[in-house]
Amino acid sequence: MPATILDGTKIAAEIRAEVAAEVKGMTAAGVRPGLAVVLVGHNPASEIYVRGKVKASEEVGIYSEQHTPPASATTAQLLTLIADLNRRDEIDGILVQLPLPSQIDSKKILLAVDPAKDVDGFHPMNVGFLSTQRPGLVPCTPAGVMEILKRSHIPIAGREAVVVGRSDIVGKPVAMLLLNANATVAVCHSKTHDLPGVCRRADILIAAIGRAGMITRDFVKPGATVIDVGINKVTDRAEFERLFAGDVKREENFRAKGSVLVGDVHPEVMAVAGAMTPVPGGVGPLTIAMLMANTVEIAEHHLGSA
Ligand code: NAP
Repeated sequence: MPATILDGTKIAAEIRAEVAAEVKGMTAAGVRPGLAVVLVGHNPASEIYVRGKVKASEEVGIYSEQHTPPASATTAQLLTLIADLNRRDEIDGILVQLPLPSQIDSKKILLAVDPAKDVDGFHPMNVGFLSTQRPGLVPCTPAGVMEILKRSHIPIAGREAVVVGRSDIVGKPVAMLLLNANATVAVCHSKTHDLPGVCRRADILIAAIGRAGMITRDFVKPGATVIDVGINKVTDRAEFERLFAGDVKREENFRAKGSVLVGDVHPEVMAVAGAMTPVPGGVGPLTIAMLMANTVEIAEHHLGSA
């Protein structure tokens, strides 16, 4: 039996509706949550992501503004901008779109964001809160993964979870969230021995690698829940064939556009997994929904402490 599809688009829509209702109530009470997005230079992928974030803000009623310093901006100039956003009361959340141009000291910039406005949860103070199970801001993609699991009623406590990838923005925080939810967690990376063997232990397998279709069926225990965080663009015909041979709809898309999106999980895993997120339409929509939820959470906190 093929895996149950964990529909991220549907879950994200539920969350956005909940957020919109909260924003409506807050705005009626005279406090409209506000989000500032900082996009430096002209990275095409970043521009698409930022457009999506600004559009989603408008849809749920969050005030948003974009700051677009040029690609030549310096660390000092960005620090000045962040300091200004930190000071402004109408801005609850500050998001600095990564990656930043190479001349900018990204760590210094992320450290300069007020931890109480750190809507992406990347500030070391929020990382510390997460690892010590204190209330704080949680990175959006990992928080979205947890929402998919919880709202799909996938049991976590006591289960074996394997996370492939140990980045600061996905792998590590998702591992910490699973641990905090009482899973037994293994975190794998490029130096892990016998990766398929470790992955096969997983009741919950999280792929956050950035390699198209790397997780094949021999990595997956039958019936496991597979969450595919990866977003990869495939343009090579041979690679397309390895992943989607016989998929008529994808073939049409590939012919028309010259590329298709694929996650880190090979589509053949659908035949083995018990439940699985699709790409696109899985984790991706949750990232934006959780950004909206985090912005409102901060605004509520600011309201409470005003
Ligand atoms: P990243 O910073 O490049 O980290 C990738 C991780 O995968 C690293 O820990 C790396 O190990 C590990 N890895 C690479 N090759 C491997 C291999 N052959 N075997 C085992 N582990 C391997 O990537 P990221 O920022 O975490 O993103 C991961 C994926 O998620 C990307 O496709 C990205 O586009 C996607 N993403 C999606 C969303 C969303 O909204 N859905 C959000 C963020 C990211 P080492 O540490 O040893 O190098």
